[in-house]
Amino acid sequence: MARIAIGGFQHETNTFAPTKAGWDAFNIGGGWPPVTTGNELFAAMEGRNISCAGFIEGAQAAGHELVATTWAAAAPSDVVTDEAFDRITGMICQGIRDAGAIDAVYLCLHGAMVTESHEDGEGETVARVREVVGPDLPIIVSLDLHGNMTRRFHELVTACVAYKTYPHVDMADTGKRTAAVLDRILAEGKPAKAYRQIDFLIPLSWQCTMMAPSGPVYDRMTAMETGGVWTTSYLPGFPAADIADCGPSIFAYGATQADADRAADAIAADIRRLEPEFAGKIYDPDEAVAEAVRLSQGASKPVVIADTQDNPGAGGNGDTAGMLKALVNAGVEKAAIGLMIDPEAAKAAHAAGVGAQITIPLGGCSGIPGDTPLEATYTVEALHDGQTTGTGPFYKNAKMRLGLSACLRIGGVRIALATHKVQMADQNLYRYVGIEPTEQAILVNKSSVHFRADFAPIAHEILVAAAPGPMIADPAKLPWKKLRRGMRLSPLGPVWNGPVWNG
Ligand SMILES: [Zn+2]
Repeated sequence: MARIAIGGFQHETNTFAPTKAGWDAFNIGGGWPPVTTGNELFAAMEGRNISCAGFIEGAQAAGHELVATTWAAAAPSDVVTDEAFDRITGMICQGIRDAGAIDAVYLCLHGAMVTESHEDGEGETVARVREVVGPDLPIIVSLDLHGNMTRRFHELVTACVAYKTYPHVDMADTGKRTAAVLDRILAEGKPAKAYRQIDFLIPLSWQCTMMAPSGPVYDRMTAMETGGVWTTSYLPGFPAADIADCGPSIFAYGATQADADRAADAIAADIRRLEPEFAGKIYDPDEAVAEAVRLSQGASKPVVIADTQDNPGAGGNGDTAGMLKALVNAGVEKAAIGLMIDPEAAKAAHAAGVGAQITIPLGGCSGIPGDTPLEATYTVEALHDGQTTGTGPFYKNAKMRLGLSACLRIGGVRIALATHKVQMADQNLYRYVGIEPTEQAILVNKSSVHFRADFAPIAHEILVAAAPGPMIADPAKLPWKKLRRGMRLSPLGPVWNGPVWNG
């Protein structure tokens, strides 16, 4: 039995997104629990699809004593403020100091945090924890699959374990796998480790593990975890963080350096070989709606369109109106879009009441270039206080506090409207405002990939559309400045050779 200090700090930073994450963003948490310190963490994690929850379950089952420090997460956005970063890392470090004698530290991190002062938020977090525990104590970390991991991070952690699914249906399971690796470290000592980077960016849409090439890459990787290879991770990266180390990375841990190197090299070779296959069609808004109308003729299930560039899971605020306009302009019937995040519109709907007609500007709140509100008259069909619970595999049991919410209708288009942003990755995010997703001909989901876990089973077809939004689907179109030179900006795409200076 060991004594293990546990904590967590998760943020996925889109440096091209409109809003920074301050302390309040961590206390709202979006679909996550708010900042939690001490023993309350155990109740907050119970039954949740979060790595920390799985780690707690696995480590307690193995008989270990856990000492909770602080756990915090915010919805993806622009950089974490220095104030929030110093405060939360300070709380974790203080919790570790207060824990007394410990045998290891477990951290539930994301892997793509950029702060106002640090490009490598996780490397800096682990460095501060290392200062407290010294160079030898095991620090083990669970990671999201969307990490932009650095060599500094690799050198500071004893081992890390990342998700293997996107949509992330294995978050809790990853925590359990992390607990198993820690057990092995406590019994056998530290593993040899290997780290590799891949030199091309992969768009989110083609990282999905429900299809090739990404799914089979993970299958082959998992098959290597035998004999001297303890655990392997492949992170395809979060291709919207303007930092030197943005992009895919690979971690392998084994009994010997040769075991770790062999596994890491095999995974890297597999991904490099498949570079041309990380590709697919991205529609413009009108083209996507026209194609959805065509595909939905005679279909018994909805055609689902991913409004991928306004994905709140990647830094969008869920308020762009491009896809809404495309639906309204096409005069479609039995269509729904969600979640639109517009606090003023939600307030207006609640003030007017069910059945009322309101003339308001809807969406367009973030001022994204090329995006404006849709000013029109909407019927208020339903109202809700925004307290609801996820029912699908991704947001299972997530207690959501979405603020004032409503169903608005314009022509044949219904809008699931809320005050606080969360990714449309759960059918209940339509149902809670009275929209039955299975009865629609067309659904437009503000999500890139996570929606597939709950919506693929009810979808006739899935299309990916790019309306003006902050999460640019093709990373080659982003205004990079700090990315390391020599990276290809997309699979087989242009090579980045530094910013172009105009005068
Ligand atoms: Zn992720």
